[in-house]
Amino acid sequence: MRRTRIFAVFLTILLLCAGCSRQPEPVQRQVFAMDTFMTLTAYGDGAAQALADAEGYLTVLEDAISVTQPDSDLSALNQAQGSPVQVSEETFPLLLAALSLCGDTGGALDITAYAAVRAWGFTTGEYRVPDPQELAQLAAQIDYSAVQVEAVSRTVTLPDGMAMDLGAVAKGWAGAQLHAQLEQAGVTSAILSLGGNIQTVGSKPDGSPWRVGIQDPASDQGACLASVAVRDMAVVTSGGYERYFQQDGVTYWHILDPDTAAPARSGVASATIVGPDGTTCDALSTALFVLGAQGAEQLWRDHPELNFDYVLVLEDGSIHITQGLENAFTLAQDDTDRKVTVISHE
Ligand code: AMP
Ligand code: MG
Repeated sequence: MRRTRIFAVFLTILLLCAGCSRQPEPVQRQVFAMDTFMTLTAYGDGAAQALADAEGYLTVLEDAISVTQPDSDLSALNQAQGSPVQVSEETFPLLLAALSLCGDTGGALDITAYAAVRAWGFTTGEYRVPDPQELAQLAAQIDYSAVQVEAVSRTVTLPDGMAMDLGAVAKGWAGAQLHAQLEQAGVTSAILSLGGNIQTVGSKPDGSPWRVGIQDPASDQGACLASVAVRDMAVVTSGGYERYFQQDGVTYWHILDPDTAAPARSGVASATIVGPDGTTCDALSTALFVLGAQGAEQLWRDHPELNFDYVLVLEDGSIHITQGLENAFTLAQDDTDRKVTVISHE
């Protein structure tokens, strides 16, 4: 009898403790938008409504910037043949931010590369390898600095023959907007997976950092080779493995070098950017994939105001990380002999 009572007290204490540390239940929403599956997860009061609003925002943004929907701003721009086009309130600030980042990256990011992206078939899946003459013509039409914008009327003019696509920055932009919206709705713990773009809000419900995996570009199974621990940050990866086709034994991926209009071959297999601003991270993930290890290092040193760190996985399997991630970065346990170089300011 006495033993039963002691056991009952013990059980009550145990249950009370479990009650104290019980995590709030996550609210989750799956969304298909911007050509990718997205998973939105948030915790706490207001999470369900905030995620419903987030889904609404993603749909509105996609309708504005899709290059395949005929009535989007981007379709209007790409068909305007040199005439000015007034774009929506959703598109205009994203377009301005993207143009500014094209400048910061010295044109490694160039949102006017769309005619080339289309010519390779990355929009339709009807893949082909354009011949050198066609590539030279396509490359000549890539130049973000020729885009004219007029802020008061939200008017954008592309030279005739040029086409634009915000795909390299849009998911990061969406993550940044949703971060602000969720914070405003009082959500202090959320993780948004927007197809290769992770946006975290606050920390995990228990106060510990989010651990975001970095995929091994050489793995067919999508295995992770490392993770970064972050709070309130975006973690954005660009990799050749995300979209590609093979022809005659050669792999052609969807990230193009604006100088050649052909897939960028810089020796980088994937570029992951970590920073507080999702738009910057997304833009730089694409740009660093184009720039390669040396160019990435230079950009990181020259632009402290962009406030980012990176993880580059090179084609030989080695890894470069910048100083700011030294403590946040962990190799997967079965991969601890991989070569990791820390890039520092000195
Ligand atoms: P991300 O996955 O963010 O690296 O974006 C890649 C997408 O951006 C591609 O699927 C193309 O639509 C487009 N793109 C490819 N190369 C570039 C480039 N150098 N600059 C800007 N956009 C690009
Ligand atoms: Mg990007």
